[in-house]
Amino acid sequence: MPELPEVEVVRRGLEMQIVGKTIAEVAVRGPAVVVNNPEWFSARLRGQHVVAARRRAKYLLLDISSGDTLVVHLRMTGQLTYHDRSAQERVIVQPATYLERALQVQPIDKHTHVLFTFEDGNGLYYRDSRKFGRLQLCTPAELATHKGLLKLGVEPLTEAFTLPLFRRFLKGNRSIKAVLLDQTLVAGIGNIYCDEALFLAGIRPQRGATGLSKGEQERLFKAIPEVLQQGIAYGGTTLKDFLQADGQQGSNQEELWVYGRSGEPCRRCGTPLTKTVVAQRGTHFCGQCQR
Ligand SMILES: [Zn+2]
Repeated sequence: MPELPEVEVVRRGLEMQIVGKTIAEVAVRGPAVVVNNPEWFSARLRGQHVVAARRRAKYLLLDISSGDTLVVHLRMTGQLTYHDRSAQERVIVQPATYLERALQVQPIDKHTHVLFTFEDGNGLYYRDSRKFGRLQLCTPAELATHKGLLKLGVEPLTEAFTLPLFRRFLKGNRSIKAVLLDQTLVAGIGNIYCDEALFLAGIRPQRGATGLSKGEQERLFKAIPEVLQQGIAYGGTTLKDFLQADGQQGSNQEELWVYGRSGEPCRRCGTPLTKTVVAQRGTHFCGQCQR
């Protein structure tokens, strides 16, 4: 599932590719992923251009020249990819093997639910095999009262995320993992980066949030931006579905300390990693490095 780093990677790709481009046509093939009435959605976007690509936690916010904002949440398997027609034409003019061509010219398949075509002929496709993702075109008033956005907590890669603030989150009768996953406290952390941050901080995920020492609190506070920045630097974590805006996979999955590595040796101490369930989520940790 895309978390803060994956959405940020998509945002950066779209910022380079689609900001300033005018939308010529919008085809909604799978209305289940569009919150608005599909005809209204298409008509309202047609002829407008993209002003900015922003992110809030795991939400992608595309500001449109009309004043509206297209709010995209990729959820489990959403992919938002840019397709350069001229690059595809070059491939078609100079075909290598059939397989190479098939891999380069990304096909529109039954999971491609929304197609945006720009005036220059290039496209932006929304593809989602499980259809949990959502696209919603919001007026300024709707954006200001968007329930999902309103409840979000602090952005961990901003100066607003401070150690005193983080310490205030460490309360209540629940695990530290549950606190980190709570989007109303620190926004944008999901299962992968939660397990990774707890490994770096040397803290077991099932520990009670109130039981951390001052030193552990500070280590975890520093580990959160560290794992998120690393995820962005490596282009996101692609375990299965995540794609960058240019259709490439991320490579942070090769850098993970614990997530998805249960039974494999800890990269730091060699102990086989453990998988358990904490906060109703599959949870990975090292029984030696994490206390
Ligand atoms: Zn270890």
